[in-house]
Amino acid sequence: MRILVLSDIHGNLVALESVLAAAAGQYDAIWCLGDIVGYGPRPNECVALMREQATLCVMGNHDLAALGHPDIDVDNFNPHARQAVLWTRETLTEESHTFLAQLPDTPVLPSGQERLLVTHASPREPVWEYVLTPNVAWENFALFEQEICLVGHTHKPAIFRWRLCHEVNLEYADAVADNELVAEVSLLQAPSSGGVQLDTSAEQRVILNPGSVGQPRDNDARAAWAILDLEQMLWQCRRTPYAIELTQSQMQAAGLPRRLIDRLSYGW
Ligand code: ZN
Repeated sequence: MRILVLSDIHGNLVALESVLAAAAGQYDAIWCLGDIVGYGPRPNECVALMREQATLCVMGNHDLAALGHPDIDVDNFNPHARQAVLWTRETLTEESHTFLAQLPDTPVLPSGQERLLVTHASPREPVWEYVLTPNVAWENFALFEQEICLVGHTHKPAIFRWRLCHEVNLEYADAVADNELVAEVSLLQAPSSGGVQLDTSAEQRVILNPGSVGQPRDNDARAAWAILDLEQMLWQCRRTPYAIELTQSQMQAAGLPRRLIDRLSYGW
């Protein structure tokens, strides 16, 4: 089973369509890690594509905000994001709203895949926490048992590896009682192309982030995505160029903030 893992599409239909075209024929299922909407100019079209094609989808913070959930205070978003949230709220069709409203806001155990856990942000805070550093990853590894946890939310591709070893090499490490093994967590370099062999076992687990389709923030403007090949245990990180200026002109026509338009050119 090869899973196309998409996250943080953010209403960027041009990027999403480019990724789907680039990935065609290379996957058996699509899983979406949330934030289908927010920031971008085509929220309903992106929701429709994921509703039709994704077999698993979780709730992101922007999805939740766009629903107008009473627990979400839009003042917690920065001014540009807030403006985009309010625009998205007004733009969402009833059909899109209904789909987003039923997305799970707790970590999902995909049926038939007991080695995997799927969530938008982190196991600890499924909608809100940013797993950007080994220490935050370390705290989260303690809260789930699966070998592989898929997350998005940061818009930065990442591989955090937890492993048992015989020496303490890292700051984020802890001795495991009753033998001399030690657990440590490290952030591995996520290659912009090619695969990483996932050596998962009782001694190794990973938190994997494919990056963002619609608004990358790792200084690479190309759409980010990944394929998780569960037979080969391979995590393939990919980047796809798309017509950024087309998304930008759609955003301009929608009256979305200039800063959100400009950032797509740079990937930050
Ligand atoms: Zn996001």
